[in-house]
Amino acid sequence: MRVVLAQPRGFCAGVERAIEIVERALEKYGPPIYVRHEIVHNRHVVERLRAKGARFVDEIDEIPPGAVTIFSAHGVASAIETRAEERGLPVIDATCPLVSKVHIEGQRYANQGREIVLIGHAGHPEIEGTIGRITGRVHLISKPEEVERLQVANPDKLAFITQTTLSVDDTRAVIEALKARFPSIVGPDTKDICYATQNRQRATRELAGMVDVVLVVGAPNSSNSNRLREIAAEDASALDPKWIEGASSVGITAGASAPDVLVEELVARLSEMTETEVARLPGVTENVRFRMPPQLNETSARAPRSH
Ligand code: SF4
Repeated sequence: MRVVLAQPRGFCAGVERAIEIVERALEKYGPPIYVRHEIVHNRHVVERLRAKGARFVDEIDEIPPGAVTIFSAHGVASAIETRAEERGLPVIDATCPLVSKVHIEGQRYANQGREIVLIGHAGHPEIEGTIGRITGRVHLISKPEEVERLQVANPDKLAFITQTTLSVDDTRAVIEALKARFPSIVGPDTKDICYATQNRQRATRELAGMVDVVLVVGAPNSSNSNRLREIAAEDASALDPKWIEGASSVGITAGASAPDVLVEELVARLSEMTETEVARLPGVTENVRFRMPPQLNETSARAPRSH
């Protein structure tokens, strides 16, 4: 069986940074370190960090006074930040800079007196954070048909923003519907869908055209992994031999929060089941790297931001 690995796949710069923030905080301040929400959507990553002394909590109020607190890569609402301030928690922010960029953009539109249409998936932590960062009215939609139902104060004072991990094609359809109904709406087009999401979707599409079955390594609650699954129309949360029955070629990709070790394990399992020959797509090389927060900068001896 021919096994083809998508390129790029797996960890993005925002996820690598978030994991490194927890690891460096553990080294610098010692365990336990408290992390609000899963640092990234991957059980394997969360368990590994938990074993090193990270504690994952849903609410700020669960964190003991004075304990070093990390906000996850998905970002948090302003109210969460305020609550941490009120509790005097020293905070290190692991929000992906590309998510922060959307927060700033949304608030900038709101400052112009515009109502915001946020394209994204209800219940995802990034969406909760983004809504909670914008003062003013935010309408959340995810499908073109929801545009008709929008009730806005002034159709000429509207802006849209998007979640970073959406399907580019689906988002384009929603934006077209918005522009058809509200011709003066402004927004970033699909540019705020992050580079990692776009690259992984493109590579998965290419892969899907070359192989019989595509397996996507990623957590069921990971937005970007699910968008890859839609492209590849395959579920690979655990390998079921039925999926590859009769297939002579299998493609593998991985969501931005899935570590490469899981891909390696999947390749190993396939090799146990049948004779395999592994190839890698050339794809694009990603050189994106984000700076560490000031508290964890190697050149900085500053203590975490204490409120
Ligand atoms: S998927 Fe994109 S937005 Fe999310 S953490 Fe990675 S780089 Fe940042």
